[in-house]
Amino acid sequence: MLIVNNLKKNYHTLKDEIKTLHNISFELKENEFISIVGPSGCGKSTILSILAGIIDKSDGIIICDKTIGYMLQDDLLFEWLTIYDNCLLGLKIQKKLNSENKKYVLDLLEKYGLKDFINMYPNNLSGGMRQRVALIRTLAIKPEILLLDEAFSKLDSQTKKFVIDDIFNILREEKISCIMVTHDISDAITFSDRILILQEKPSIIKKEIITNMTEIPSKRVYEKEYLKLLKEVDDNV
Ligand code: ADP
Ligand code: MG
Repeated sequence: MLIVNNLKKNYHTLKDEIKTLHNISFELKENEFISIVGPSGCGKSTILSILAGIIDKSDGIIICDKTIGYMLQDDLLFEWLTIYDNCLLGLKIQKKLNSENKKYVLDLLEKYGLKDFINMYPNNLSGGMRQRVALIRTLAIKPEILLLDEAFSKLDSQTKKFVIDDIFNILREEKISCIMVTHDISDAITFSDRILILQEKPSIIKKEIITNMTEIPSKRVYEKEYLKLLKEVDDNV
């Protein structure tokens, strides 16, 4: 699906060079969910920005011919557009707005419980619902790979529980692979098949942990297994 090989990134400021990614290599398989964790400033967001094509890499190889969707912490909904128009925005920007895609968006809104809200504005919605709208806007372009950068860190824990289950099911149903950046280790464990732990910049992948948890997130809390993973990740961050 996606191969990253010897990826390097140095930022250049007027004065100096900031070596951020020293050497990052990994592969994302079909229907796989990977989380990336690591200390603040180690370059997690940099990896996603490069994969999304927003910034250039300094060196390395990225092989990917899939459509990529990208979602950030801020839901970036426009308050003056209705929920429906917000969801159509990505398609509009890509000049792919046609009746078939519009129907797809309406179907998604219906399928994920937002049909009654399509003519309302974002400020009428709860945080969790807004995040779901942002997700549908991202799904509208039919991504095969979804990149999530701290996308749930602003939600309170109760809302997050619902949203996480929700999104997990949506990804499964739409057969989307995912790379999630998070500072929340427990999110990383609940969500992913594999966790990549980065070290301080200039960063490399310090450790890879396979979770082997395949149930939907809310059903996954097998205390012992979870606590063991939590300790293993925590010891390595
Ligand atoms: P993370 O998401 O892991 O917190 P980032 O990828 O946002 O880290 O940033 C990693 C490092 O790269 C930062 O510590 C900073 O030094 C550097 N960096 C990020 N963006 C820029 C930029 N636009 N210009 C210069 N340096 C940057
Ligand atoms: Mg970041």
